Amino acid sequence: MRRKAKIGFYALTSCYGCQLQFAMIDELVQALEKIRIECWFMLDRESNENAKVDIALIEGSVSTEEEVELVKKIRENAKIVVAVGSCAVQGGVQSWEKDKPLEELWKTVYGDGKVKFKPKMAEPVSKYIKVDYNIYGCPPEKKDFIYALGTLLIDSWPEDIDYPVCLECRLKGNPCVLIEKGEPCLGPITRAGCDARCPSYGIACIGCRGAIGYDVAWFDSLARTFREKGLTKEEILERMKIFNAHNPKLEEMVEKVFQGVEE
Ligand code: SF4
Ligand code: SF4
Ligand code: SF4
Repeated sequence: MRRKAKIGFYALTSCYGCQLQFAMIDELVQALEKIRIECWFMLDRESNENAKVDIALIEGSVSTEEEVELVKKIRENAKIVVAVGSCAVQGGVQSWEKDKPLEELWKTVYGDGKVKFKPKMAEPVSKYIKVDYNIYGCPPEKKDFIYALGTLLIDSWPEDIDYPVCLECRLKGNPCVLIEKGEPCLGPITRAGCDARCPSYGIACIGCRGAIGYDVAWFDSLARTFREKGLTKEEILERMKIFNAHNPKLEEMVEKVFQGVEE
């Protein structure tokens, strides 16, 4: 892009952690030579939500009827739409209990409190509009922002990661918390890119970067391993759903492992 690229950063239902992570990148100041920020309320209260942009970055899950309309408007105004973070890409941890009635969840959190919006179950942005690229993580790594934005700004296309956290973990020589401590690490089915952050501290991965491609994430194989370590089907599903509740293969693959098995 020869002229300055117009950028918009929009927030749906989220903790604002992705925006904050992006805002704290030192290189953002240098990038201002190449970009013009049209909309980013965290940085500028006078932002124009209706501006036409080259790249729209969307944080958060679609969790209200108003946000359904907002993402449609963002799509109409943007050449490239990027979903940022696990809330936008996978629906986030707020999708964890997606199979429970919304009214029940709502009452648990808010009681009889009144709100001015129309709530709905949290969903990924791609459920409502075409998303061109995803930046994974909760929050994403700073290098992921730099890589994605930098690549798009030279009219190229950033590559996706299609290998699991385990690969980075083994390369670092970490002891395996799954094999050595029997902890339910989701590294084998989770997209790499965080340099195996959690297992490097001896903590099992909870899958914040989402499952690797649907035909590669072997939920069934890992569920079998967890079953052998004593976890029940419910415990396995609960863990795998933290960041993958909307994955269309998850339940079917885990169910298969427990068919005909007495717990
Ligand atoms: S992906 Fe994580 S850091 Fe980003 S908005 Fe959602 S909860 Fe916050
Ligand atoms: S600790 Fe987790 S991420 Fe690391 S190798 Fe073991 S299962 Fe894979
Ligand atoms: S190890 Fe797993 S939970 Fe931890 S940052 Fe990486 S993907 Fe997220």
